[in-house]
Amino acid sequence: MDEQLDFAPCGYVSLADDGTILSINTTLLELLEFNIDEVQGNHINFILTKPTKVFYQLYFFPMMSVQETVEEMYLTLQSKSGDSIPVLLNATRNKRNGILVNDCIVLTMKKRHEYEKVVLLAKKEVEEKSRLKKKAISELEQVRSELELKQKELLELNEKLQGWAFTDGLTGLHNRRSYSKLLFENLALFKRNLNPFSLLMIDVDYFKSINDTYGHLAGDQMLIELAAILKSYSGENAISARYGGEEFALILPNTNKENAVQIAERIRISIEASFSEKSPVTISVGIATSKTGDTKKDIQSRADQALYISKNNGRNQVTYA
Ligand code: GH3
Ligand code: MG
Ligand code: MG
Repeated sequence: MDEQLDFAPCGYVSLADDGTILSINTTLLELLEFNIDEVQGNHINFILTKPTKVFYQLYFFPMMSVQETVEEMYLTLQSKSGDSIPVLLNATRNKRNGILVNDCIVLTMKKRHEYEKVVLLAKKEVEEKSRLKKKAISELEQVRSELELKQKELLELNEKLQGWAFTDGLTGLHNRRSYSKLLFENLALFKRNLNPFSLLMIDVDYFKSINDTYGHLAGDQMLIELAAILKSYSGENAISARYGGEEFALILPNTNKENAVQIAERIRISIEASFSEKSPVTISVGIATSKTGDTKKDIQSRADQALYISKNNGRNQVTYA
């Protein structure tokens, strides 16, 4: 082998058709850490890794016999110390001294191989990061929907609380606070449209003695039943409230004196009739109708005075202020 080829900056090996190494240059020998005696005359498999041996057999020789040339084939050689050396191989088939020879040029690919490894690793990392990102997004999505659910629950609870704040716990009617607000609103509306509304103040007669006779729990039950009667006999638009203790208030929108008295009588009679002879209950009622210039206090005290008169005149009756 001439010196130029022997020390060329690439490996050179020539093979017989049966794979025997006929000659090999020093550059390739140094790469493989072999002496020429150890390699020459051996089969090419001697310097190939296991997977490459199969590849070589399946692709290299069939291609050489058909095309007489191989270009840019990637292979892995194996050095004496067992290192894998990735290489790029070009080969041509030539006839010298009447013998067919496969001349191969080998270029090491270590750097490129390293780069590929790095790229592969980076790709894997990106994939892993994207997987983690997707996972984090779906977890975030879950937290968000849980938060939405909690917000909804909170809103519902808030609505309930607001309802409770304006509702009497025993009877479910408007409580004193709600009544006061609604009375104010009805007065304001009356100021605008001059459509009169009426206010009924209702007090249970001798309720103390009912409690004393039947017990406080039975008294509570009666208050619940009284509230239900008030509600059902006062009409759809009426506002029924528990004013306090055994006193109730009814605001009747768009209701003049005559209609208010009629409704009050209906309620009084139905209550009187609703309770058994064993535990009779009656109510006294005072009525006032809105007048121009009325304040809450004005209309309230007229209804109270009328109620006072009902009580004084013997109870179980309706008085118009
Ligand atoms: P009058 O005809 O003069 O109104 O007599 P009364 O006994 O109804 O009047 P009074 O104001 O002397 O007594 C009211 C009673 O109502 C006293 C109280 O024990 C009772 N009462 C107030 N709130 C409740 C309640 O929530 N439950 C029960 N069971 N009783 C109540
Ligand atoms: Mg009372
Ligand atoms: Mg009473």
